[in-house]
This record gives sequence, C-alpha cells and structure tokens, in this order.
Amino acid sequence: MRIDLHTHSTASDGTDTPADLVRAAAAAGLDVVALTDHDTTRGHAEAITALPSGLTLVTGAELSCRLDGVGMHMLAYLFDPEEPDLARERELVRDDRVPRAKAMVGKLQELGVPVTWEQVARIAGDGSVGRPHVAEAMVELGVVPTVSDAFTPDWLADGGRAYAEKHELDPFDAIRLVKAAGGVTVFAHPAAAQRGRTVPESAIAELAAAGLDGIEVDHPEQLAYAPESGPRLRALAADLGLLVTGSSDYHGTRKTCVLGEYTTDPEIYGEITRRATGAFPVPGAGGGPAA
Ligand code: AMP
Ligand code: ZN
Ligand code: FE
Ligand code: FE
Repeated sequence: MRIDLHTHSTASDGTDTPADLVRAAAAAGLDVVALTDHDTTRGHAEAITALPSGLTLVTGAELSCRLDGVGMHMLAYLFDPEEPDLARERELVRDDRVPRAKAMVGKLQELGVPVTWEQVARIAGDGSVGRPHVAEAMVELGVVPTVSDAFTPDWLADGGRAYAEKHELDPFDAIRLVKAAGGVTVFAHPAAAQRGRTVPESAIAELAAAGLDGIEVDHPEQLAYAPESGPRLRALAADLGLLVTGSSDYHGTRKTCVLGEYTTDPEIYGEITRRATGAFPVPGAGGGPAA
C-alpha cells in the first residue's frame, strides 16, 4: 500500500483541481491520498466525486497555527467538517487571508513591485489565498524566477520585508477542536527550518501531552534542508508515543515535489483511521482498498 497523507489542490495553493489531484494520485500508483488544503475542506466534495476506483481519499486540512510567535502547521484528518466550533476557526483563518494578502500587495508596491490585488486574486481563483499566489504574481512580473525564490527575507519569508501576519490558531486549541470534531492531528514538517524558526522539542512534548497524535517526519523539504531531523524526530516520537507519518506535501507545479515522494507506513495509517470518529476514508467508486 502506498499512502500519501499531505497534498494541496486549487482549494488552497496547489495547482491541480481536486478532481485532477485524485486522478494524478491514482496515476502515481497511490492507494490512499489525503487532501489537506490550507484551512479549508472545500475541495473534498469534488475530490470524492472524481475519485478513481482503487484509490481511497482521506479528508483533511492543514491548519495554520502559531506558537510563541513561531508559525507552524497542523494536519487534521477525518474530522467532521460540519462540527461548528472547528468550522468557525477554519473560516476565521481563511477569511483573514484576504486582508493579509492585500497587506502584502501593499508592502510590495511600496517596495516598487507593480503587483495588484486583482492579479493575486486571479491567480488564487476561489482557493484559500496564500503567499504562493502572491509569489506567483511576482514571477509573472519577472521580479523572481520561481515561487520559491519569493520566500526570502527580501520578500515573503516569515518576517520578510513584504510579509504580513494572518490570524492563526493556537496549536493547543487546534488539537482540542480537531479531537472534539472526531479528528486526528499530525504536526506537519516540524523541523522544516528553511521556512523560518521552528518550535523546540519541549513544545512538541507539551503538544503530545495535550493529545497530539503524530508528527510528519518524512517530508521533502524537511529532509532536504534538515536531514538530521529524520532520526531525531523518530526518536522523539518513540519517546512521546507519537505516530510518525511521511508524505509529499504536493502542490502541483508550485513546488518541485511529486505525489508519493514520501509515504506513510500502512500500520500507522490503520491507527489513524482507528482513532478517527468524525469521518471515514472514502473508497473510490468500484471499491478501492478502504482502511
Ligand atoms: P501562507 O499559508 O500564505 O503563509 O503560505 C505558506 C505556504 O507557502 C506554505 O504552506 C507552502 O505551501 C508555501 N511555501 C513556504 N515556503 C516555501 C518555499 N520556500 N517555496 C515554495 N513554497 C513555499
Ligand atoms: Zn501550501
Ligand atoms: Fe505546511
Ligand atoms: Fe502543506
């Protein structure tokens, strides 16, 4: 079984529509794929409708959080999308992305970049708007060669000249809310330091004590920029009784990683599905391998 538990579609900052994403996942030979768009579940319905036979969809989201001033991402799986408290928090974060992106456009204009909100809004379409969309506008204008090149202190990196903060969740609240909605939480790429500061291991221990289920260890940028994090995070997970996951964090053409670049052990996947009560994995029409 090949299981990829972290991907993005046009419902946030990926470039594949949810339907294209599940077709690409099947073509890549995956048995299970999780759709985890930033702060939104709006891609789920289309992904379910288009789900090829033999592929199982795990519904999820990647929640934007902040702990002691450090941005971090919390993957949430198989929660009830209708549960009102968690739905409200997702909406707060998602809605705040719009004024925040406008603020970044304003800062770029002050820096002499002729980007407009209309351009960013066109690139984002109806997806949850984020820095990759602003970055793509900068690529269109020839300011930077690639989206990644906009994630520097000169531009959009955390604390960069054109960076603006958005509303984010306290990760302890996120864990509590996701659990109350029947879901499972996995701290995404906890050591991906090329994106800015990371939270200390002591905080991961506190999150574990608060009910965090797992940490994402095998992740393209995390292993590329912090290869030593693999064994270190695995040891920490063993210490704290956390599940260890692997995934691609696929974003279509907006990042270089490919579907299934890293995967999650089937036993870990089984444990995630056993813990979840808010939603079930969706087998593709024709009866794909469910949990
Ligand atoms: P935001 O949620 O709007 O703050 O944007 C953060 C998102 O930008 C992350 O979830 C990634 O998808 C993307 N991102 C962060 N760093 C990079 C990078 N160096 N290159 C490309 N995309 C990145
Ligand atoms: Zn993203
Ligand atoms: Fe992330
Ligand atoms: Fe992601």
